[in-house]
Amino acid sequence: MRYRKLGNTGLVVSELGFGTIPILRGRVPVLPQYYNPDTPTAVAIMKKAYDLGCNLYDTAIPEEYGDAQMKLGEFAATVDRKSIIISDKARFYSGADIYREVLRSIENLGTEPDIYFVHQVDDDCADEVFGRYGALDALYDLKREGKIGFTGIASHYYSVLYRAALDSRVDVLQGSGNILERGMLDRVREEKAFCEKGFILNKVYAAGLLIGPFSVPELIGGVLEYPFSSALLGIGTFEQADEAFAEEYDPVHFSFEEVVARLKERFEPVACDRCERCVCPFGHEIHTSFRQFNYYHLGKEFWAVNKLKMDLENTYRHCLSCTEHACMRECLRGLHMPEEIERVHELVRAWGKE
Ligand code: SF4
Ligand code: SF4
Repeated sequence: MRYRKLGNTGLVVSELGFGTIPILRGRVPVLPQYYNPDTPTAVAIMKKAYDLGCNLYDTAIPEEYGDAQMKLGEFAATVDRKSIIISDKARFYSGADIYREVLRSIENLGTEPDIYFVHQVDDDCADEVFGRYGALDALYDLKREGKIGFTGIASHYYSVLYRAALDSRVDVLQGSGNILERGMLDRVREEKAFCEKGFILNKVYAAGLLIGPFSVPELIGGVLEYPFSSALLGIGTFEQADEAFAEEYDPVHFSFEEVVARLKERFEPVACDRCERCVCPFGHEIHTSFRQFNYYHLGKEFWAVNKLKMDLENTYRHCLSCTEHACMRECLRGLHMPEEIERVHELVRAWGKE
């Protein structure tokens, strides 16, 4: 296992970290597969990762990750607490709410988390999170009180992560990326503001969907060139822990075109890297539709179509009649949005008829 610095925190984290979603039990609306191990088995899986050099464990409150937080607490009690780094999170945006959730997390874990993230921050809630008496102010207070080690912002949106990178109250960022959805990672690498912060990467396997077209060594090796601190891998079995942590993977360079060509052996993907440069003046988040289209073909059919249905009709109508095409001017991949959104629309229409 190799180790990297976690920004300016002074912590050193394993290059690959343990994502705890797959060890949860309970019915919570998460995408990746989970395996329902009982607590002793889950603790033993985490211990296996520990023995293989993993020192970063990431979880969230029970409403998001079921009983994974409690299982992580049980595991933490079996090892030297200082030898692991616990990263925790909650999807609450006001200061009062997140303060309460951190105290509840400490109870569930039986120990103070080293990093605590405001989870799933998007542009709609960002002003509340970053504003006065918002969640970030509360995390900053909790850090000064010694109840958490470091503050964090977790988001799927580059705009939010960039805002967090410029904010001196934030120590660590958590964002998503993989060899296909690499646009945000490319932007983070180019932007100096991110240098000072720790960066935890998630979705390296795209919630398991890229395993199949690509092998685990390709998926891990393919992101190693990026300047993250630790890349989280969802682990739910001993075999997965072994596969993820026993080997020291070499960096593999895949061009974006090579990744798309591999996917084309299975379906015609939308060649979008999720850089999120295509800001639509009318508020349509087309890259999310493109992602769901690709996820549909990678195996998450029902889930992806249901997500797509939410705003697709509206987006489709607007894009077809749009003359502005501001989104296309920013797209370095040269996508023609109305054509691509038409393909997405056709998929959903055909699915409805089945
Ligand atoms: S084509 Fe027009 S409506 Fe559609 S996303 Fe682009 S700017 Fe927005
Ligand atoms: S459509 Fe183009 S600009 Fe938008 S996220 Fe995808 S690659 Fe980036």
